Amino acid sequence: MNPIELYKELPKTNCGECGQKTCMAFAVTVSKGDATVDSCPHLDKEKAKSLSGSIKKIDIKEKIYEDIREELKKADLESIAKEIGAEITKKGITVKLIDTFYTVNKECHVISDVKQNVWSKILVLLYFKTGGSGGMDNQWVSFSELKGGIVKAEALKKECEIPLSELFNRDAEGVSAVLSALNAVDIADQPADRAWCLHLFPKIPVLILFRKGDDEFPASSRLLFDKSADRFLDAESLVFLCEGFVEKIEKMLEEKN
Ligand code: SF4
Repeated sequence: MNPIELYKELPKTNCGECGQKTCMAFAVTVSKGDATVDSCPHLDKEKAKSLSGSIKKIDIKEKIYEDIREELKKADLESIAKEIGAEITKKGITVKLIDTFYTVNKECHVISDVKQNVWSKILVLLYFKTGGSGGMDNQWVSFSELKGGIVKAEALKKECEIPLSELFNRDAEGVSAVLSALNAVDIADQPADRAWCLHLFPKIPVLILFRKGDDEFPASSRLLFDKSADRFLDAESLVFLCEGFVEKIEKMLEEKN
């Protein structure tokens, strides 16, 4: 039973007693597995029991992955590959995400030699789907200067820059070692104590700026992007990409210690 079918069985009064504003929102929440049918006090016990048995839970991440896959099936992947810095291989089209190679095969499934999570697979498909073209601009800009960046700037700060600053505060040498292990390149003459450039995707380099802490202020970090970044991923996906990058640094730090 999908959310629409479940909705049809609900009282449709939108009373809100289940904690959701509407019966439709409740049906979606139940389908995601975030609530159970008996949270609606207006369904009798027998009906709630029979509905719970027939609800098909949606895995939202898998659904997003499948939806993008379907869209990409209509695209000319080989033409896209040339533009986004991916390589045509025997298995399909291969692209590097931070330090891991992922291949998009003929069915648009993302495969890799390493264990992969669905978010990495979604990011790879989004990079193909955006299918940016042209070279990089070789000009660093703030996230807000990118298309759609102003709206998502707070999310970048909260989900990526602040957590990265916290990692620098905890273990600046460790973060530096992790960045070296990821082949980040030291960049001189930047407005920071240290700066590294790392390609998260072939056409999406980021500049990581690090300022040491002192008695007054803690260490801090910022991420800058090539001016062309919004041609290769939209602002929301860029936040998502950087979030995964910071999580990777944290995981590598933990493994190292
Ligand atoms: S409690 Fe039941 S009737 Fe009220 S909004 Fe939730 S699902 Fe709808």
